[in-house]
Amino acid sequence: MSLANVIAAETPAPAARGCLFCGTALRHTFVDLGMSPLCESYVPEEKLNHMEPFYPLHVYVCDECFLVQLQEYVSPAEIFTEYAYFSSYADSWVEHMRRYADMITGRLDLGRESLVVEVASNDGYLLQHFVKKGIPVLGIEPAANVARVAAEKGIPTLVRFFGEETARQLRAEGVQADLVCGANVLAQVPHPNDFVRGLQVLLKPRGVVTIDFPHLMRLMQESQFDTIYHEHFSYLSFLSAEKIFAAQGLTLFDVEELPTHGGSLRIYARHAGDTTKPVSERARELRRREMDAGLLRIETYASFGEQVKETKRKLLEFLIEARRGGKTVVGYGAPGKGNTLLNYCGVRTDFIDFTVDRSAYKQGKFLPGTHIPIHPPERIREARPDYVLILPWNFKDEIVQQMAYIREWGGKFVVPIPEVRVLD
Ligand SMILES: [Zn+2]
Repeated sequence: MSLANVIAAETPAPAARGCLFCGTALRHTFVDLGMSPLCESYVPEEKLNHMEPFYPLHVYVCDECFLVQLQEYVSPAEIFTEYAYFSSYADSWVEHMRRYADMITGRLDLGRESLVVEVASNDGYLLQHFVKKGIPVLGIEPAANVARVAAEKGIPTLVRFFGEETARQLRAEGVQADLVCGANVLAQVPHPNDFVRGLQVLLKPRGVVTIDFPHLMRLMQESQFDTIYHEHFSYLSFLSAEKIFAAQGLTLFDVEELPTHGGSLRIYARHAGDTTKPVSERARELRRREMDAGLLRIETYASFGEQVKETKRKLLEFLIEARRGGKTVVGYGAPGKGNTLLNYCGVRTDFIDFTVDRSAYKQGKFLPGTHIPIHPPERIREARPDYVLILPWNFKDEIVQQMAYIREWGGKFVVPIPEVRVLD
């Protein structure tokens, strides 16, 4: 390796206007959400008067491969080394992954001789279910604080970013997996080719990769622009994922459509040469449906920006009318998506008095950018607000159930996406 290459590898690259997958120059805006702070950088009280970095949330679509993507404005090391999102705080998510563990154990006939590797294993919310079945596991997680929690639960966890290099090191140590899985990680890597190459290297010849990610088609159909944040570099369809995997010698042979995160895909991949797993009818059917929805035409993507502006206008109309009428509005939750929404819409304590969150890590802090205070959920019972705006709308049913008592004083739930709506 020449000295120039060494320097290039160590110096963070400036935001290059090239597609993350195919390198084509990016010329088409998908949506421009302006400037926003990092959505997980909750502000402690003593830092409220400090400067706060804001970065562009400008999403492009590649006219060559149709990958919808955010440039790498912030390095993943800055985002993920101390991450506030503990997966285990959402009951329905933990349950969802328990069902996944049961299903995939049966489908792949996993046992004591198998190895399950999860990339971005977080606090061990998924791998714990395999451990209970006696199936050997390895977690790979870059955020040291959440990895520590996993280790305390007895889940072997490597604190590292995943890519080809990590996969080659593991393979050199004799580690290869029957199942490599990852939920909500592919969208979060700035170099998808390196990441998927790593999956290919780590996978046994007859092994299976499953990857879950939010489905771009649903994001577009349901105006879920708040799922765009600096941590998410790629916004994937089945068609774009298929291209990225194929470029690294992996074939998508099956897919499930899941209700999580507003509509996700779980793709199943295998080595291109592994003919024991034919491509399923539902994979072919989804590919057709995405083509019918126009996902291989640039015009389809061009209209999304206007749709987002209209969603913003409707939310502001509701909030202005409520506050002008003397009603109180508070938030529920402090998720990343809430921060994109509130910053883009310019909603601060002028509209929302406070929000609440079950995570002790967030309580007592303030939302980035908008500086809306975060309290424990009990605060809602004391404040008796007229409206509770549910920011993690993907957990709407669970939250409405937990907080049903707001009806005692006539309180109502509101969701902001796909457009603002008061729940009956
Ligand atoms: Zn491209």
